Amino acid sequence: MATGTDSEALVKDLESLRAEKQRLEERIIELYTLYRVSKTLSLSIQLDEVFSHSMKLIGDSLGFDRYGVFLVDEEKQGLALHVSHGLPSEESAGVRFHMGEGVPGRVALLGKTEIIGDLSAAPDCVFSPQRKISAGSTLCVPLKISSDTVVGVVGVHRNTVDGFPPKEVILFGSIAEHVAVAFENARLFQKAKVLSYKDPLTNLYNRRYFFERLDKEIERACRYSRMLSVLMVDVDNFKTYNDSNGHLQGDEALRKISRLFVMNLRTHDVVARFGGEEFIILLPETGPENATTAAEKLRSRVEEEKFDGEASMPLGKLTITVGTASFPKDAKDALQVVVSADGNLLKGKAAGRNRVNG
Ligand code: GH3
Ligand code: MG
Ligand code: MG
Repeated sequence: MATGTDSEALVKDLESLRAEKQRLEERIIELYTLYRVSKTLSLSIQLDEVFSHSMKLIGDSLGFDRYGVFLVDEEKQGLALHVSHGLPSEESAGVRFHMGEGVPGRVALLGKTEIIGDLSAAPDCVFSPQRKISAGSTLCVPLKISSDTVVGVVGVHRNTVDGFPPKEVILFGSIAEHVAVAFENARLFQKAKVLSYKDPLTNLYNRRYFFERLDKEIERACRYSRMLSVLMVDVDNFKTYNDSNGHLQGDEALRKISRLFVMNLRTHDVVARFGGEEFIILLPETGPENATTAAEKLRSRVEEEKFDGEASMPLGKLTITVGTASFPKDAKDALQVVVSADGNLLKGKAAGRNRVNG
C-alpha cells in the first residue's frame, strides 16, 4: 500500500512526465515547421517563389500580426521592403531604409538579431523609416549567407508586449537561415540565367536568346496578324581592321558598334551578337519599310562614328552592311526569316558593302 510520501513522489513524477511530454510535443512542432520550411524552400528556385513560400510558411506556423522581408541591395547602401503582410498599403512595397537606420537597418548593418519586448517604452521604426511603432513587440532577424554577409532582414511584430519567447526566437533564427540560403540560391540562379543569355564581349544578347525570342515573337505575330522584321548585320572588312589595329582594338570597335545599335533602336527591339563580327536584330511589330529605315539609321550612325585607326580600311572608314527580311512577307517561319536576311546581307556585300539590302 502506498504511503503519503510515495503518492507525493508519484504526483511529482507525473508532473515532470507531463512537462517533458509538453516539451517534446513543442519540439516536434518546431522540427516539423523547420522540415516544411527547408523542404519547400529547397524546391524554390525563382526569387518570387522564395519570398512567397517563405513568408507564407513563417506566417502560417508562427502567426505574427505583421511582418516584412527586406533585401539589401547589391551596392550594400540600403535595404528595400519586398514582401509584407498586415502593413498599411503605403508601406507595402518599395519602402527603403539606409544601412543602420531603424530596426531593419541596424540588423542589416550589425548582422545581429534584435528584439524589442516593449515598443511603448522605446518606439522605433520597424517597417518604415517614416513611422515609429509604439505598441507591442518586435523581432528582427538578419538573413545571412555567411558570418559577415547579410542579404536581407525579416522583421515581425506582435501586438502583445514580450510577444517572442526565447524558444520561438531560436526557431525563427533557424528558419531565417534556410530562407537566406534559398534566397541566395535563387539570386545566383537568376544571375546565371541572365549570363547564359548574354555575350560577354558586347553584353548584347547571344544567338541562343535571340532564337528563343524570335520563336515567341513569330507566334505572337501569327496570333495577332502582325509583322516582324530581322536585320542581319556584318562589319565590313573587319579582318583588315584587326590586322592593322590589333584584336583588342577590334574588340573595342565591336563594343562601340553594339552600343550604337542599342542606342538607336527601341527598347523592345532585341539586339544580339550572332557570332564574330556579325549581329542579328529582331524588330517586333515592324514591316519591311520600317525595317529598312531602322537598318539605314544604324548603317549611317556607324558610318558617321569615328573609330581609331579606321583610315587604313578599304573604304576609309569602318562600316556595316545590313540584310533585312520580314515576316510574313519574305518567310513563313523563324528559320526562313533569318536565312532570308542573311541572303540579303550577302547580296549587299556583293554589291559593294556599306549598304542596306532587303
Ligand atoms: P567582309 O566585309 O566580307 O565581312 O569582310 P571581313 O574581313 O569582315 O570578313 P571575314 O569573315 O574575312 O573576317 C571577319 C573578321 O572578324 C576576322 C576575325 O578575326 C574578326 N573577328 C571575329 N570575331 C572577333 C572578335 O571577337 N574580336 C575581334 N577583334 N575580331 C573578331
Ligand atoms: Mg562575317
Ligand atoms: Mg565582316
